Amino acid sequence: MQDIKEFNLKELESEFLSLGIKAYHARQIFTWIYKKGVFDFSRMSDLSSKLKKLLDDKFKILDLKLIQSRKSKDGTKKFLFELADKNLIEAVIIPAQGRVTGCVSTQGGCKFSCKFCASGLLGFKRNLTCSEILGEILYLKSDIYGRNLTHIVFMGIGEPLDNYDNVLEAIRIINSKDGFNIGARRITISTCGITPAIKRLAEENLQIELSVSLHAANDKLRSNLMPVNKKYPLKELIKACKEYSLKTNRQVTFEHILIKGVNSSLKNAQDLVKLLEGFKLSKINIIPANYIKELHIEPADKTAMILFKDYLVKYGVHVTLRKERGEDIGAACGQLRLQHEKE
Ligand code: SAH
Repeated sequence: MQDIKEFNLKELESEFLSLGIKAYHARQIFTWIYKKGVFDFSRMSDLSSKLKKLLDDKFKILDLKLIQSRKSKDGTKKFLFELADKNLIEAVIIPAQGRVTGCVSTQGGCKFSCKFCASGLLGFKRNLTCSEILGEILYLKSDIYGRNLTHIVFMGIGEPLDNYDNVLEAIRIINSKDGFNIGARRITISTCGITPAIKRLAEENLQIELSVSLHAANDKLRSNLMPVNKKYPLKELIKACKEYSLKTNRQVTFEHILIKGVNSSLKNAQDLVKLLEGFKLSKINIIPANYIKELHIEPADKTAMILFKDYLVKYGVHVTLRKERGEDIGAACGQLRLQHEKE
């Protein structure tokens, strides 16, 4: 049975025509699913019973099974879902004043083996489909009674730019007026730095926010922490990011987690200043690393973090210090899945 979320509006209209269903029903279905968050044909009250039955026989809408959910003291809520083929993925709701962000996975597992990240520990399984990605968002949307999802970040399990086509297809529906209608500037792709895909993204004519997981500003350390750097070293990566910011006129964010004893010294901060010299449309987001016992990862001390930040500020780098959310519920990438698989 086909997932109806694989179709964009145009495709669904022609699919309907080929099934002898009037094309205008496609827009009705889009409204029910993406605007009203209804994922049961029988509840779509303006459709005839005959049509509801036909659609029910032909299509599924949401095929995610909730395995576990956890709510943090700060309101962050994390979900562990099982896909139809039993793969496990995670998604998170992060409420804040004036905004609600949904964080979604793009792959089952991850192949990039960053040394500080729990997502890769169980290996790579497969890419998520467009409908599975949209399914996560649909589920999150249905869980935030009275509020609406305002932002989407691709910061769950997996590397979004390694599943380029499906992620872009999903983004077009997230962004479209007939879909979730979330503006491109409110959609963030976070990448470990797949340079050719960043170049490709710059050509999409979409103002998507680009966030790059940098975590080290010299090739030796970065290749150590993030093996992807051996293939796409810093010089090329930064060049592609500059191109991206020029093409889209958007600021690129560089994520830098601070891991105790690894990448949080003033020498590391100095490398960062040098690397981003002259890159006007850029910002660094400093984040304390989450504890990952299995990987012996610990956050840097508060003092080290402040010194690191102050150094960057002193040299004119635009820097923010991100408050870690949902730490008490294992909200960092891949942590919940890892815990669940080990239980
Ligand atoms: N593959 C993409 C998307 C994952 S986003 C990427 O690399 O950007 C998840 C974010 O969480 C990334 O910035 C990642 O570096 C970060 N992360 C992973 N492990 C972490 C940890 N132990 N503590 C804090 N952040 C972590």
